[in-house]
Amino acid sequence: MKRLIGEYGEYNSGTLFIVLAGIHGNEKAGIFALEKIFEYFALNKLQFNGKLVALKCNLTALEVNQRFIHKDLNRQWYDSKIKKLSALPFGMLNTAEDREQVQLLDYIQHILAQQEDKENIVMVDLHTTSAAGACMTITNNQPKSVDFARMLPVPVISGMTKVLQGTTLEYFENMGIPGIAYEAGQHDDIESIERMKYGLISLFLNAGILDEKHSNFFTEGIERLRKYNEGLPYVVNVLYHHAISDDDNFVMKAGYSNFSKVSKGEHLADDKNGAILAPNTGMILMPLYQKKGNDGFFIVEKAS
Ligand SMILES: [Zn+2]
Repeated sequence: MKRLIGEYGEYNSGTLFIVLAGIHGNEKAGIFALEKIFEYFALNKLQFNGKLVALKCNLTALEVNQRFIHKDLNRQWYDSKIKKLSALPFGMLNTAEDREQVQLLDYIQHILAQQEDKENIVMVDLHTTSAAGACMTITNNQPKSVDFARMLPVPVISGMTKVLQGTTLEYFENMGIPGIAYEAGQHDDIESIERMKYGLISLFLNAGILDEKHSNFFTEGIERLRKYNEGLPYVVNVLYHHAISDDDNFVMKAGYSNFSKVSKGEHLADDKNGAILAPNTGMILMPLYQKKGNDGFFIVEKAS
């Protein structure tokens, strides 16, 4: 499997977009959406005032359609881990994810080295969720991240890098680069591909990268995405994160989706110690309906 999904435009002609897809091997919607985007851009010879480079991340896990092989590749991007990886010879790396990460780090550094205009770079990491429901973006703590996130017509979750350690958002944050993760719906929902595509197009249009004259091609798709997320708050804060480990036997109660309202004391899930009750009133995010993963659910509230 090839790591490069595609590239378009020129370095140093505007914003560089580094787009990552399939860091979780069972989340392929981003890859399909990017393939459609590159095909469309090339076919219509669209003017792109910047550079877009898109990479597949966990190739080994993508081959077998699993979230990961040995460990979650999107929890390995903290400083000490990266230093440790760079100190080891490639042959000494004994997990699929360590090998993937070293190759990705090389590739990302190679991309960054070609953009002299260091102020104009943004990273976008594409995901889908096991639960159904609305889309969302998650930002890192660089000042421009929320501005980029608000270019997509979906709710923004701020402050997540304080809760979730070692995501790609953190790696780019530490390099001073704005980053957003985009969750476009349920893993196997065919519409997640369209929501991914139009989320990215909306970002490119609002960032002034695509010529305005092309915007009518995309109006309908972007409007569909906006409608899908209608009525939800623009920005929410994380109130609670229910972290889990593999031997917790965590089972989420059926019927929750992204942004479902929950009340304090509500029976949300069970694990080996019994019932798990909501510690806060708010909205639930990313309730876990798959075996692999270390986040049971999040509770968020509308930011004031
Ligand atoms: Zn994911």
